[in-house]
Amino acid sequence: MRLLVSGGAGYIGSVVTGHLLEAGHRVTVLDDLSTGHRDAVPSGAEFVQAGIDQAGDVLSADFDGVLHFAAKSLVGESVTNPALYWQNNVEGSRALLEAMRAADVRRLVFSSTAATYGEPDEVPITEDAPTRPTSPYGSSKLAVDLMIGDYAAAYGLQAASLRYFNVAGAWNGLTERHTTETHLIPIALQVAAGRRDRLTLYGEDYPTPDGTCVRDYIHVADLAEAHVLAIAAARDGHVVYNLGNGSGFSVRQVIDCVAEVTGHEVPVVSGPRRPGDPATLVAAGDRIRSELGWAPRRPELRTMVADAWAGSR
Ligand code: UDP
Repeated sequence: MRLLVSGGAGYIGSVVTGHLLEAGHRVTVLDDLSTGHRDAVPSGAEFVQAGIDQAGDVLSADFDGVLHFAAKSLVGESVTNPALYWQNNVEGSRALLEAMRAADVRRLVFSSTAATYGEPDEVPITEDAPTRPTSPYGSSKLAVDLMIGDYAAAYGLQAASLRYFNVAGAWNGLTERHTTETHLIPIALQVAAGRRDRLTLYGEDYPTPDGTCVRDYIHVADLAEAHVLAIAAARDGHVVYNLGNGSGFSVRQVIDCVAEVTGHEVPVVSGPRRPGDPATLVAAGDRIRSELGWAPRRPELRTMVADAWAGSR
């Protein structure tokens, strides 16, 4: 297939682009490089530096589908500057959907998030759980999921929203390289590498076995394989799939794993809870396993941390 990947210069978009190329697809990456890196775009892909609001200049009837990653994704920033998230994530996605409609391109895989659920009533979280986002970031992603559902019903889109839990690891040297890093594993690795003094542990009084938050970590290469399956399986309508391992690790377990894998200490200081952090987020991934035959091939936390460590060296 001929595919457009918006945000293909970012961490997840670049790894998915690499997997699409390996699967034999032709890929054009559209990215404004506001947070992505030109050198992350795999060499077999065509590259266009532009925002998603310009997707109409690139898309034509020659394209078979779109994988849409381009978005702002910092939870804290979204709280202080929600306008940026509604403009970039929501209006940008609408422009992309309009460009798809104009060019009659129907297949779509959208990069959604577990942040659409907010604080869950039950874990593991199924796709039918209530959606009550606790940040404008989560709201903006949920708004796009709803928009895609409406467009699919009325205009014949063949769409899948993949709701990621905590993506980790690296693939072929493609790793997380955020200027503003907020994620646990890259921060812990920076401490292990001596590039930061310590890690602040955001809360130790959660109702979890060791008091720290539990998250479901998924290897970025496993995540990418799910995208390759989802774009190939696209069918009329809109389907939502959770993407996680289905098992949780606490912040303490992650820190211990980073120390073990790297052989370096990871000094920690206790801090207050981070606003909007639910105690436990673990995916029920039955739907994607049964409908697309996907299963994570790298479920060990150790593998994710080791790959991220190797990718950051
Ligand atoms: N966390 C932490 N210290 C940090 C960064 C993250 O204690 O410097 C915790 C955070 O509170 C959460 C978990 O690590 O419980 C995972 O956070 P991350 O930002 O990686 O992903 P999120 O689950 O928020 O998407």
